[in-house]
Amino acid sequence: MLTFKNTNIACIILLVLTILGHKMYGISWLIYIAILFVYSLIVGYGCYFVSSGFFMPMYCSANTTDKVIAITFDDGPVKGGTPLVLQILMDADVKAAFFCIGNRIAGNEAIIKQIDADGHIIGNHSFSHSTLFDLLPAEKMLVEMQQMDSGLYNVIGKKTRLFRPPYGVMNPNLKNAIVKGNYLPIGWSVRSYDTMAKDADALLQKVTPKIKPGAVFLFHDRCPITVVMLPGFIERVKSEGYRIERLDKLLGLPAYA
Ligand SMILES: [Zn+2]
Repeated sequence: MLTFKNTNIACIILLVLTILGHKMYGISWLIYIAILFVYSLIVGYGCYFVSSGFFMPMYCSANTTDKVIAITFDDGPVKGGTPLVLQILMDADVKAAFFCIGNRIAGNEAIIKQIDADGHIIGNHSFSHSTLFDLLPAEKMLVEMQQMDSGLYNVIGKKTRLFRPPYGVMNPNLKNAIVKGNYLPIGWSVRSYDTMAKDADALLQKVTPKIKPGAVFLFHDRCPITVVMLPGFIERVKSEGYRIERLDKLLGLPAYA
């Protein structure tokens, strides 16, 4: 299996062989550049594609043939979007998972309480969701994650076990922080790219063919277009004979400590 450890071992072996080859047969130093280039491509792939499990195994979907999926929302709570999403979910009697950003809790406590009271679950999506998050050392990442935990605990009295990386980017430091904090790393199997969508119908047409047994959909409750698309998506899921299960139940994981 392609993992960070295996890739490092293969890279070191290739570099040693290249040194020997250079000394014994005079092969070109350009081979070094080629090896490092391929290494960077593979590591970049592992960082960006969380479902690859390159740095650590991630929970991205359920292994089932049952017609069941889960839906998740990242980057809330936000005043404009989250309450609208909650209303749509309530009308459709659907439970979902919300991966919330810690620094958005203050001032939105009522929304957080509503998410919990409606029977949805809340996961950790870091405190700042900063673009620099992935450059932090593991200790500082963990501080951020725990900051989010305490903010959530102060509002609903629960400590989440589920963590989803900001921007969906993994790296070795984040793996260490997840392990140290005893979090369960959550990915997805269907990334809707709703943050980049321009048209709700087009978004709906794009995601519905991906309704498959065990799929985990990633949406954003901060996106107005997602709010417009959501009722149609839920209707389509149900019309295809699927049910929507809450993420923790679909994956068989504890949502809270
Ligand atoms: Zn996010």
